[in-house]
Amino acid sequence: MPGVASVLVVEDDPAIVDPLTRALGREGYAVEVAGTIAAAAQVLAGGEGQAPVDVVVLDRGLPDGDGLELVRRAREAGSALPFLVLTARAEEVDLVIGLDAGADDYLTKPFRLPELLARLRALLRRAAPEVDDDPLGERTVLTARGVTLDQGSRQVWKDGEQLRLSAKEFDLLRALLREAGTVVSRDKLMSRVWGADWFGSTKTLDMHVSWLRRKLDDPLSGAGDQRLITTVRGVGFRFERD
Ligand code: CA
Repeated sequence: MPGVASVLVVEDDPAIVDPLTRALGREGYAVEVAGTIAAAAQVLAGGEGQAPVDVVVLDRGLPDGDGLELVRRAREAGSALPFLVLTARAEEVDLVIGLDAGADDYLTKPFRLPELLARLRALLRRAAPEVDDDPLGERTVLTARGVTLDQGSRQVWKDGEQLRLSAKEFDLLRALLREAGTVVSRDKLMSRVWGADWFGSTKTLDMHVSWLRRKLDDPLSGAGDQRLITTVRGVGFRFERD
């Protein structure tokens, strides 16, 4: 991302717009605000003196309709512009992320500012794959399936809620998220989390996976979230991709 990244905030609620634009400004972003779909469409269409927008933070409840309309229009026009959608309820997530709208990520309100900033950084990084800013695989923010992990601050969020993980649980989740969508072998996880010269049983790995599942748990399911971390018998574990 050469120079300053530009964020368009599409939101009509001053209680969100004001602190958000201040925080984005402090982080070094160029910020534009639009309070309606029509105003946002105008900014996105560009024009004289209008810097191109790199990422959009989009509220759904706007005075002239559902903000998702903007995502649909952009996708119809073949635009890959990343949208981070603010939704009021977790149940809306399928609609937001699904094929229907084609948004890139979401946050449920109320959200925490550090998480929004982490998600924005992840979206901008994904949008600029030609820039290898991560030669050592030390990307700051890893994210999949509503789980966001910030390697710098060692913080983790699930659907906007911050999780308290032990150091080992954090290292384990990081090792899995780094290779989300592929199976990570037990040996590799052991050396990533317990160091290259571990020896003995890997039972402790299973214990930590089970604790981690419980912390990632969906309140609706009972015994640890099996849907995020899949056990691949005889091989290892896989953190499922979106
Ligand atoms: Ca609103």
